[in-house]
Amino acid sequence: MMSGSYIQISRRALENNLAFLRARMGPGVRISSVVKGNAYGHGIETFVPLAEACGIGHFSVFEASEAFRAKGALRKPETEIMIMGMIDDGQLSWAIENGISFYVFEAGRLQHALKAACRIGRPARIHLEVETGMNRTGFGKEGLHQAAKLLMEHPEHLWFEGLCTHYAGAESIANYVRVTLQRRNFNRISKWLQSRELNPHCYHTACSAAAMRYPPTRMDMVRIGILQYGFWPSQEVFIEYSSRLEDKHNPLQRLISWKSRVMDVRNVKAGEFIGYGTSYLANHDMKIATVPVGYGQGFSRSLSNQGRVLIRGKRVPVVGTVNMNCLTVDVSGLGNAEKGDEVTIIGRQGDMEISVASFGEFSNQLNYELLTRLPPDIPRIVVE
Ligand SMILES: *Cc1c(COP(=O)(O)O)cnc(C)c1O
Repeated sequence: MMSGSYIQISRRALENNLAFLRARMGPGVRISSVVKGNAYGHGIETFVPLAEACGIGHFSVFEASEAFRAKGALRKPETEIMIMGMIDDGQLSWAIENGISFYVFEAGRLQHALKAACRIGRPARIHLEVETGMNRTGFGKEGLHQAAKLLMEHPEHLWFEGLCTHYAGAESIANYVRVTLQRRNFNRISKWLQSRELNPHCYHTACSAAAMRYPPTRMDMVRIGILQYGFWPSQEVFIEYSSRLEDKHNPLQRLISWKSRVMDVRNVKAGEFIGYGTSYLANHDMKIATVPVGYGQGFSRSLSNQGRVLIRGKRVPVVGTVNMNCLTVDVSGLGNAEKGDEVTIIGRQGDMEISVASFGEFSNQLNYELLTRLPPDIPRIVVE
């Protein structure tokens, strides 16, 4: 069935970004592809097999339900999945049975994991998250002692797969001191565990920003979200990266474009209002095209009379208010715009581009937030 709009995901862009990341991270560093938030809006079911085909063998999600979806989308039995956040005690058995690893940051979860692992007869793959200064999740000193004791006493049921933490804002230099203290704390905790012969299989701390800015944080594995999709964690990280280079060209390419088609075209006489209420008055004879995308599909209402889309290789303005399921644009300047013309909401058309960042600018949303909010029911299609 035809849908009002669709999202294209570019294989070539992903290959490009992964090649850049592999070269940058170095040969000893594994890349875990972070696919929480519906793969940052790209769609777990579409993105996971694509990334797998491009050589990714490890995925990170926030919660068990995402792990379940990622698992269903895998093509290779050896590909690994790690849950970094929420998993109910009841879901632990499922994770253990399926060899899915998960973060543990409080003693209760570790005890439940131990019980489940004993019952199932398979080890639980544990990533011990430690508190280093973010103050979100992670074992503090006391909890860590308890956890270490359990890990030492039950090596056959609790497999110490990873030691990890997360930095509190590595994308901004304003947090430099805090991140530096976190790194020091992490190293101190690692040494303490090593002194008790507790050696995890893998150390991992870096998200995209940390992996770019603080090379020692890369360790055995980096958890890369935003960069693989072709976006910088912040403008600051790109400026810092490119300031050292002659060539300031952006090495990343965006995977995503969001497209629709013109549903209807009509003429409006000077002096008429367009759409609901009085927010837009035609001050000359105009040609208006209707596009079947509205705030119900993630095109923010705050882009009323503000947003832009591309039609026939030209930027055209949204006129009037964005409705629930459609919006109207001024195509007077295009001459012969007609029903069925391709509309680009995000992405390229000819030489023109509408970036997610500029799409979001008017509605004050971060790339991360905007991508994640792209509705899951818009069809995703892989293109070359
Ligand atoms: C989201 C997340 C990441 C990835 O962050 P990016 O900035 O998108 O690379 C890494 N680690 C944890 C714990 C996360 O929650």
